[in-house]
Amino acid sequence: MLQQDLGCDDLPVLRERGQREVFCGLTGIIWLHRKIQDAFFLVVGSRTCAHLIQSAAGVMIFAEPRFGTAILQDRDLAGMADCNDELDRIAGELLARRPDIRTLFLVGSCPSEVIKLDLAKAAERLTAAHTGRVRVLSYSGSGIETTFTQGEDQCLKALVEHLPEDPTAAHSLLVVGSLPDIVEDQFQRQFDAMDVGPVRFLPARRSSEMPAIAPGTPFLLAQPFLNETARALEARGARHLSAPYPFGVEGTLAWLRAAGEVFGCTEERLAQVTEAPVRRARQALARYASTLKGQRVSFLPDSQLEIPLARFLHRECGMELGEIGVPFLDRGLLAAELPQLPAGVRLVEGQHVDDQLDRVRADRPDLTVCGLGLANPLEAEGLRTKWSIELVFSPVHGFDQAADLAELFARPLLRKERLAV
Ligand code: SF4
Repeated sequence: MLQQDLGCDDLPVLRERGQREVFCGLTGIIWLHRKIQDAFFLVVGSRTCAHLIQSAAGVMIFAEPRFGTAILQDRDLAGMADCNDELDRIAGELLARRPDIRTLFLVGSCPSEVIKLDLAKAAERLTAAHTGRVRVLSYSGSGIETTFTQGEDQCLKALVEHLPEDPTAAHSLLVVGSLPDIVEDQFQRQFDAMDVGPVRFLPARRSSEMPAIAPGTPFLLAQPFLNETARALEARGARHLSAPYPFGVEGTLAWLRAAGEVFGCTEERLAQVTEAPVRRARQALARYASTLKGQRVSFLPDSQLEIPLARFLHRECGMELGEIGVPFLDRGLLAAELPQLPAGVRLVEGQHVDDQLDRVRADRPDLTVCGLGLANPLEAEGLRTKWSIELVFSPVHGFDQAADLAELFARPLLRKERLAV
């Protein structure tokens, strides 16, 4: 069912409800377990959950992984007390075997017996039982409640509630969203050159390094899908700096500027310290201009990155925009992005997969950005696709990655050209 709504920035939005085709929030564990190096993610779920995360992440037989699944089987259904005992036993055995674990996340899933378990209470109970040794937190990665990037949102929200309070943090910048270490280091160097700081990142690489916050702490989001984390930070008095997201040269520049304004970095200083990386990024981007310019791209709702990426592809790569589908639209977090989309773009919130596929077939864009499950059928119909999940796994933020980001979209189009020869 479609319903049209005219927002405050006058971009019409079609709202759609129906069958969805997205990975669940458990998927976030795949990048989060690499980022927080002393955390363990214990999925409380079914064999399906175990298969999803094992096949998505790959399991190294000789390495100690930092994620696993506590499978609730039929015998647990006899009573919830049994489930809680079983969970405590599994967590206890895990912690005894793995002294390196400092934060244990209990990650909820879809099965009804898991939904009935109070994982927040279990986390409190386990934290008390292992005081001083480990912090146990919980969040939901259930496919009923979350799309795949919302898993990170839920995880970071759980962390925010336990961040230490420190009045001096009111004068530091908090960058929120999981970034590859190499990208984080690049941003740190840029902030240092701008005299912006101290800068702290959430999540930190180690549990003991999680940032402190205070009323007034300014924070920049590195990812557009962190709605609940942003709300939790605001509830603790932190202050969101509205900015475009750091994709492409323009997005990165505007994102850095938003931080610079708070810390007294002048426009001249910003131009001076970004001149070389901006020039390099523009030169590297130009390599993909002839491939991308004038090509039509549509997004099916999947990663929540769709709007900033559409802005980048349109403004910096010359692509034309067909439909932009997003799982949900938070106008507050996208306030600096939406006005940069061209008039007339078709923005759709939510998903009715059959109707959306019908519109893709009618539009026949040159490239469709979508989930894995929809890519193969579209490719079989002669349409080129890009898996949106790749955009979350690849380093794509910042000046130095702008060309890599463009290349991710150029690759399927170049493949099409090669096949046509
Ligand atoms: S959480 Fe739900 S959607 Fe995700 S793998 Fe488990 S059962 Fe499937």
